[in-house]
This record gives sequence, C-alpha cells and structure tokens, in this order.
Amino acid sequence: MAPAPAPKPRQKFLRQYELIERVHAYDPTADEALLNRAYVYAMRMHGSQTRASGDPYYAHPIEVAGILTEYRLDTATIVTALLHDVIEDTPVTKEEISKLFGEEIAELVEGVTKLSKLELQAEHARQAENLRKFILAISKDVRVLLVKLADRLHNMRTLHFIKSQAKRERIARETRDIYAPLARNIGCHRICTELEELSFEHTNPVARNAIIRRLDTLRAEQGGAVALVSQEIAARLESSGLPARVFGREKSPYSIWRKLQRKSIGFSQMSDIYAFRVIVDSEEDCYRALGVVHRAWSSVPDRFKDFISTPKRNNYRSLHTTVVGPRGMRIEMQIRTEAMDRVAEDGVAAHFRYKDASYGLDLEGMEAAGGRDPLANLRQLVQVLEHGGDAEELVEHAKLEMFLDQVFVFTPKGKLVSLPRGAMPLDFAYAVHTSVGDTCIGVKINGELKPLRTLLNNGDVVEVVRGSKPVVPPDWRSLTVTGRARSAIRRHIRQTEKEEFLRLGRASVEQVFERAGKKLKDVSLRPILERFALETEDGLFDAVGRGRVLPGQVLETAFPGMKDAVMAVATARRKIDGGTAARLYVRGGGLTPGVSLHFAHCCSPVPGDRIVGILRENGSDSKEGGLDVHTIDCPKLAEYEDREDLWRDLNWTPEAERETVSLARLHATIGNAPGVLGQVCTIIGEAGGNIVNLRMHHRQSDFFDVDIDVEVRDAKHLTNISAALRTCPTVETVDRTRG
Ligand code: MN
Repeated sequence: MAPAPAPKPRQKFLRQYELIERVHAYDPTADEALLNRAYVYAMRMHGSQTRASGDPYYAHPIEVAGILTEYRLDTATIVTALLHDVIEDTPVTKEEISKLFGEEIAELVEGVTKLSKLELQAEHARQAENLRKFILAISKDVRVLLVKLADRLHNMRTLHFIKSQAKRERIARETRDIYAPLARNIGCHRICTELEELSFEHTNPVARNAIIRRLDTLRAEQGGAVALVSQEIAARLESSGLPARVFGREKSPYSIWRKLQRKSIGFSQMSDIYAFRVIVDSEEDCYRALGVVHRAWSSVPDRFKDFISTPKRNNYRSLHTTVVGPRGMRIEMQIRTEAMDRVAEDGVAAHFRYKDASYGLDLEGMEAAGGRDPLANLRQLVQVLEHGGDAEELVEHAKLEMFLDQVFVFTPKGKLVSLPRGAMPLDFAYAVHTSVGDTCIGVKINGELKPLRTLLNNGDVVEVVRGSKPVVPPDWRSLTVTGRARSAIRRHIRQTEKEEFLRLGRASVEQVFERAGKKLKDVSLRPILERFALETEDGLFDAVGRGRVLPGQVLETAFPGMKDAVMAVATARRKIDGGTAARLYVRGGGLTPGVSLHFAHCCSPVPGDRIVGILRENGSDSKEGGLDVHTIDCPKLAEYEDREDLWRDLNWTPEAERETVSLARLHATIGNAPGVLGQVCTIIGEAGGNIVNLRMHHRQSDFFDVDIDVEVRDAKHLTNISAALRTCPTVETVDRTRG
C-alpha cells in the first residue's frame, strides 16, 4: 500500500477564502472582488519580505485583517488592514492605491502609514510632538485607529520573536502607555485588556508570574464557589421573574496588579479575583435586577455606580455594585443588557452594522443608544496638545487624561462637562473656557461657596466666581489635574512673569538706592551691567526680580562700601519702629499672586494683615524669583534680620482685599461637652467662614485643642469669626496660629 501523502504544513495565517467567508458572515453585501484583489496585492507587494518570526511578511497584514473581522468591521477597513504596510515597506504610493482601490481606502492607508512613521521616531524629546501628530491623524477617522490597534495587537502577540530585550520592553511600554489607553478611550475593552496583558508580560514578567501563581492557588480554593454563586444569583433573579445570564469572570493579572499598586494590599477575597456579570433583557430589567440583588444581600456602601444613566466618556454603560453575598463573600457585580455588554467589550466597533443597504459605522444608531462621538475626547486632547508646554509633562497629561475615570458635573445652565476623576474647580473653569479659568477666584458648588481644592463629584452644579482681572492661584499645581488647565495656567504665567519680574527688580533696586539717599536715575548703570555681564537695563532688573542678582550687590557696585552702612541703619530703624512706618514702594497690585507673589504658608497672611515681602534668592531652593509675603509678626522673618536688601515693603491694594479668599488657621481650646464640635462648626459657618480642615489633639477628659483651617475674606472677617467663637460658653480660648 502506498504511503499516505505527507500532510501539507498548516498555513499559519488566514487563507483568502477564509477571510472572505468571515466578512460575508456579517456583511453579505461585502465586495468580494475588492477583498480578493487586496489580499493578492498585499502578498505580491510584500513578496519575499519576512518577519522576525521567519513567517512571510504578508502573513502580518492578513492576520491584522483577520483580527478586524472579529469586530465585524466594514470592507474598507478590512482592505485597509491588508494594505496597511505597503506604502511604508514597499515602493507603492498613495496614488497607486487610490487608482486600484479608490480614494477612501487610499486615505485610510495613508492615515495608518503616518502613524507608523511617527512610531519609528521613538526618541524621547520628540514624543510629545509625535503624540500630537498621532492624535491628529487618528482623530479624523476612527477606522484608522482601529486598524492601528489591530496592527499593534498582532505585533504584540508576536513580540516574543524579537531578539533584543530592550526593544521588546520599549514596544511593550509604548503599548501600555499609548495604545492600551487609546483602545480604552474608544471603548474597545477587549483589545485594551489583551494589549495590557501582553505588555505586562514583557515589562514585568516577575510580578505577572507571581500573580498567576497566586491566582492558581486561589482558583483551586475558591474556583468551585464561582459556579455556585452564579447559580444562586441566577436563581434569585429567576424567582423574581427576571431571566438572566450570570457568570463569574476572572480579572486579568494586569488589572489585579494595578489594583495592588493603587491600594498596597494583598488579594485573597473573591471580590479581588472575580467580577460577576449579570446580563438581562432590557435597561429597565437592569434596575429591577439591582433591586432584587440589593434586597437579597446587603450592599457595600459607596460601591454602587450607575453608568447607565451617566455613561462613561467612552460610552460604557452598566450598573456596578458590590454586595456581601452568599456565605458572606464580597461579590462585585456588573449588571447590563446584551447590547451594553457588546459596547462594553468592543466600544465603537460594536456600532458597525448593516443599515440602509450599506454596511458601516452607524453613528445615528450609536447616538440613539446614548453614545457620543467616540473621537470627541480625542479632539479635546488635541486642543490641550496644541497649546503645549514642555514635552514630558504633555505626555504625562495625555496619559492622565486617558487613564482616569470621569466625573460629570454641570454648569449652572445645566450643560454637562466631563472631567477626569480627581478634577477640581479650576479644571472645570478651564474646561468651560480659558478666560473663565484665568479669572476664576472662587467657586460655588451646589450653591455654596467652596474652596478651590474641593474635589468635584458626579452631578455637582459648579459655578465659577470670577474676578475682574486674570489671576493665578498660588497653589495652582495642587489645584488642577487636567493638562488643559495646567497648560493654560502655565501659558498665562509665562506671559505675565516676564513683565512682573522686571517691575519687581526695578522697584527693588530703587528702594535700596533711595534708602542710601541716592537716586537711581543719577547713577550710570554701565559698570553695573559690565560686572554682571548683562546687556541692558531691563536685563539687569529682570535678573534682580528673578533673584539672580541682589539689590545690595547693585548698590555695592555703584557705591562701594555703601551697602553695609545703609543696611545697618535700615535694620536699626526697622527694629525701632517695628515696620509701622513702612513706605509702600511696591504695591501688590502690580504683582500677580502665584506668579511673582507667593503667600507664605508659615503665617498665611490675609487681607488687612500688615505684610512684608522677602525677595526670593535664586538658588536657595528650586523656586525662581519673586516675593514671599509674610505677616509683619511672622517668626520666620528673623532669618532675614541681616538681609536688609531682600525686604520689600508691601501693602494690600483695594482689589486684593476684595478678591482674595485666604486661608487662616485658628487654634481653639474647647470644653469637652456633647455636640460641642458641631456648635463650633455651626458658629464658623454662620459667620461666613468656610472650614477647610480640622484637626484635634491633646484630647483630655475635660478639654481638647483643635486647629481649624478656615477660609476668610480678610483679617476683619477672621476677627469676627474669632469673636463669635468666644461667645460660645464651651470655648475657652481662640487664637490665630502662626508658623
Ligand atoms: Mn503593521
């Protein structure tokens, strides 16, 4: 008997007819001839090129096309996938593709090619600029991004063939930082999870293996419980007339890793490993199912989230809750319909369908289902990047904007503004408009005046209190999280600081000269400029304002020997009169708080306090230039006792008095009686003060001490609050704390 012919080696990639069958299965109208031509064309053009795996190169575009059929994308996208590398890697031009396959496909292929080119410039300094171009390119047509993601997915699946570890790690990091968030951004959770998991494998194999081992153990212990819990939940729903599909899904090692990093705790409970999914027929049934679940088991407070009435920015919809379920186990549950589930898994790709005799992205259907334009948030990101500051920060912010969950808040007119979780009023103000952000001096949340450091919550109505002129809040870095707000503030600071440092420097030099009985205008600045190697007078004043050249040094250069004498006299005078005769050379009005004027934390001056400015010496810490404002009785001033040339006389301008909301600290000793702390808070609230922080210490049986950080308009306001507190019989003492 003749031996059977040796079986042909199995082809590792999709054959032509298989690809076409797959497309036909969901789109019977697909242009078969076009798909065939593209398949053959890709094979012919890539010819004998090979991949790191040793496979022919054309296997790659064919596999990418195959991935996209799983998401049921339109023919143009599948053809684009087949052709996505021909412009980049072969002599083919866009014109040729346009001639052979039409303009739509040529545009899509060119879009993907642009992205690939940017990818090659991995050099760090150019990352931000690349990211900007990158996001611009994908924000035109979401299909370009879908092809790019499938391309990256296939490259990640075959990453282990690449020999250089450094290269593997670089690609894996880029995937984690850029592509996975982009996939999540358009709701393609399935792709996102696989990309993250594959990156994790290459960036941190040790951690991943440890988690997998631990999961194996826990699965052996608890795995059996998953089926039981699912059955029990399903039975409860069934008996309430709600047929549902219930199943437990194991969380991915990477998502467990992220949680471990965030919370620095171990994982052992059911809820750490499994999320149960409940699939019901209609939106209404979601809420009914939630009711059944909450009646059957007690829910864990603060874990309920309604993403159906308020979908995530990437259109994700579902109810989330955690209950203490059967046998006392904590159980995380996602309740949603089949359609919501598809969108949760595939995002924008879930909306490709057959409609009006053609197959494609059904934008109207998507909007009808409560979905938003998947590219809207990318376009917002483009705006942030357009006004870019420094490169690294932008990349950070880009990541941040994509990573964080959203909060949804409203303007007083009811317009919805979506912000990343952790956003504060300034982020909101800048999201509304740059000019609103620039003039924001306070905020009302749900009708009440609140500090600018208040975290915004879902559903808050936020009203920005605006001043007449642009201001920069001194602590803006801790008051903002969005790239949009931060780059706008940074831009604003750059514009104002140049002018202000100049003004501050000139006034400072004038002040020391005047104290020495000299007039600046009578002095030739030539030798001074020469000594400090500066070109112009403005250059000199700028250097003084920034603390690079001290006013005393300028005086000393102009009149050698003069400085010490003047200093001695001035110091003596200050000691005698305690600063009460201070003359106002520099008014706060010309200097913007947060730019060249900084309120010191040691004494937290409030309007009405007598204040003094200390010129920041460059190099003393990392801060550049400007004035620190202290109250005249701040103990910190002792450090500057013999640095007369750094002292600037300051006074509040009427504007500052009107527009500043300042933080002050009160120290109170209070009798220990039931409800007394509540009384104190009520008194402060009634006096119009806003408590920001409250700390108790020295709690004895009959008295305790409390520090209260309170926001006030000015010193008088603070005095009123203190007085009101003293009227309370249980309050023993009230003092303003300094230092
Ligand atoms: Mn490719």
